[in-house]
Amino acid sequence: MSSAASVDRFVPLADWLSLHQGLLLVAGPCSVESFDQLQNTARQLAHTGLVSVLRAGVWKPRSRPGQFEGVGSEALPWLSRIRAGTGLPVAVEAARPDHAELCLEHGIDIIWLGARTTVNPFMVQEIANAIRGTGMPVMIKNPVSPDLRLWTGAIERILMAGSNKIIAIHRGFQTHQKTVYRNIPIWEIPLGLKAVMPDLPLICDPSHIAGDKRWIAEVAKQSMHLQMDGLMTETHYKPSEARTDPEQQITPGEFRDLVERLLKWKGSETGMSHSLESLRREIDECDQKLLELLASRLSLSREAGRIKRKQGADILQPGRQQDLFADRQQRARVLGLDPGFVERLLTLLHEESVAVQSLDRERRSKQ
Ligand code: PEP
Ligand code: MN
Repeated sequence: MSSAASVDRFVPLADWLSLHQGLLLVAGPCSVESFDQLQNTARQLAHTGLVSVLRAGVWKPRSRPGQFEGVGSEALPWLSRIRAGTGLPVAVEAARPDHAELCLEHGIDIIWLGARTTVNPFMVQEIANAIRGTGMPVMIKNPVSPDLRLWTGAIERILMAGSNKIIAIHRGFQTHQKTVYRNIPIWEIPLGLKAVMPDLPLICDPSHIAGDKRWIAEVAKQSMHLQMDGLMTETHYKPSEARTDPEQQITPGEFRDLVERLLKWKGSETGMSHSLESLRREIDECDQKLLELLASRLSLSREAGRIKRKQGADILQPGRQQDLFADRQQRARVLGLDPGFVERLLTLLHEESVAVQSLDRERRSKQ
């Protein structure tokens, strides 16, 4: 193999997978729970005629001990049976070298590295060693932290082990920010990946970004906007009974509706006739996010006000206000926002925060 930096090194998706209108659609349950659950979900998914690859977690990385950790290798022969029945290639997460070896033994078509694995170069290297020379296709999720080099490093390790059927997956990043999403999308990072590896297929996992099925469509749409090559979506025939990630799994029927909406929208996009109606829907979604952000900002201000009161500090702290305005203006400039508009917006936000804190203080003093 030539150096990890050579060009045209990734096999184009269409050369080894069947795509739907140019999109790679990976779908399937978060975890395999039983043969019946896998079969019911897979059959319904195959019936949509949209799916390129069936995904299913067999070993589940759980944050705390004592939770359902997947059925383990027992599920691998089930996946082979399902593949024979549906004709769909199957993908499984390999979090350790022995998982990768078992996947190879059972003829699993694709393995994927989860976000908790990509973050660990030692483990990625061990898995790369386990598949060395086999050409096993690998999907590589971004690491849990927004570190592009960890992501490219994992891709290079797999590439250097001789696998060049690789797909990167943006599944969002862990954050302490208050947000409706489970893992915030930081689109600059997958775009940065595309800039350094332009021929690398890149898809989005809106399920793990959203963490809740209500937000999956808007995340998926954003990824289509950014010309990503497809989606990995968690799908379960009875999401409410799922043993892992029940909130973010959708039914095969909902998956079909999602894809149809995206394709319709994508079609109108490429025809340059982005309808007023769809633009308005996007504006509605933006406003919803703005309102949620405003509400969380004000509740943070209220909390800061309580601390200031306990410390006997003044509500108005001109130094902090000046620093904040300067910092936000700098950020806004990067985003191409008009400084006058940003100034008015920040002033309004500041006035509202002061009003909220003063009102709280007044109320307390009357108690
Ligand atoms: C998964 O795909 O089921 C999973 C565990 O994802 P992630 O590694 O993105 O958290
Ligand atoms: Mn999951």
